[in-house]
Amino acid sequence: MISSLTFETLRNEIAGFAVADLAQQFGTPCYVYDLESIERRIADLAAFDVIRYAQKALSNIAILDRMRRRGVVVDAVSAGEIHRALKAGFVPNSQPAGIVYTADVFDRESLDLVVERNIPVNVGSPDMIDQLGERAPGRNIALRINPGFGHGHSQKTNTGGPQSKHGIWHTSIDDCLVRADRHGLTVTGMHMHIGSGTDIEHLSQVCGAMEAACQVVGRTVKTISAGGGLPVPYSAEQPYVDLEQYFNLWQATRHRLQDAFGHSIELEIEPGRYLVAESGYLLAEIRAVKQMGENTFYLLDAGFNDLARPILYGAYHPIAIARRDGSGGRVEQDVIVGGPLCESGDIFTQEEGGFVARRRLPAAGVGDFLILEVAGAYAYAMASNYNSKYRCPEVLIENGEAKLIRRRETAEDLLRLELNP
Ligand SMILES: *Cc1c(COP(=O)(O)O)cnc(C)c1O
Repeated sequence: MISSLTFETLRNEIAGFAVADLAQQFGTPCYVYDLESIERRIADLAAFDVIRYAQKALSNIAILDRMRRRGVVVDAVSAGEIHRALKAGFVPNSQPAGIVYTADVFDRESLDLVVERNIPVNVGSPDMIDQLGERAPGRNIALRINPGFGHGHSQKTNTGGPQSKHGIWHTSIDDCLVRADRHGLTVTGMHMHIGSGTDIEHLSQVCGAMEAACQVVGRTVKTISAGGGLPVPYSAEQPYVDLEQYFNLWQATRHRLQDAFGHSIELEIEPGRYLVAESGYLLAEIRAVKQMGENTFYLLDAGFNDLARPILYGAYHPIAIARRDGSGGRVEQDVIVGGPLCESGDIFTQEEGGFVARRRLPAAGVGDFLILEVAGAYAYAMASNYNSKYRCPEVLIENGEAKLIRRRETAEDLLRLELNP
């Protein structure tokens, strides 16, 4: 499938709201999310029985609540994410389970929570089976299997293969069944997630590995999860994945397992990035324009404390300019875009390995706005207070209204937890 996307480098509105008005109302930097985009992505995946959102991509409770109302359930990877899901109205024991805890370890708080709240667990290490079994014998569990291979948009987002810490190694399933048996735990679910931002070729290989793993466990398996990893286009050259083809592969796998086991198998998908990436915009103001030898820099009031993907992975985000006066002149120049932090890696236009790259953008000056696009996933979720910056606000555009869903932090917020005994 060829992408029909065009990323314009001038943009005066976001989901029907003038950029200058959003900046005026909420200040900069700020994140803006377009709910309609999330709704479209949910609809894309309707063929799967269950859409389980990997909330670590973007976990604001207003976003979780809107997903819940559209029939999506969630995955939680920490005690904090369980609390977010509960706050957003998810019920652990609904059918399908509103919340599933998926991790490679139980810290003590998360173990207490899954035991007390009866939250289903997708186990990523054999030790977790014993830890859960001792506290809550008799439960159903799912196994997250590392099929022996993985793939992601970066080595850091590859979550399969022998270099990865994730999941239960595919040849250890028998050991896990013995451990489960000892505590009366039943393996009713099987799960694989090989990486984030991978491609359809690698994702497709998971189907065969899943079938083989399910055969080892046998007829207790009732649910299979394809994991997440669906990529989204970050530039005009990147295609959307062919979801129909992807679903059909899983559908065939499901049917083979149903024939083998003689009962129905529920098919889950567990996307993070796919549901939210395109909905998000990081809106910043250009605060300085300076010349360094041959290079022109646009320096923003947003830095890698707001959006870390470029410094972490050399990730590419489309960039647009909105002039304060709304003017449309198309004179362009090659620029480097950076933030305010005291660290030379605070550059939004960098490639993997930290190499600074130039981007062709409309001429702009101090006071104009710059928008980092496709910034809904792993963006605000990775924001930090580095350099004692306040984390920025989040705004949701819903039914033609721009709603504040997290306010900007203040100096008081920043200092609230510190003690000087
Ligand atoms: C991160 C994660 C996902 C989501 O990955 P995406 O690439 O954002 O779709 C799904 N499942 C698990 C277990 C994860 O850790």
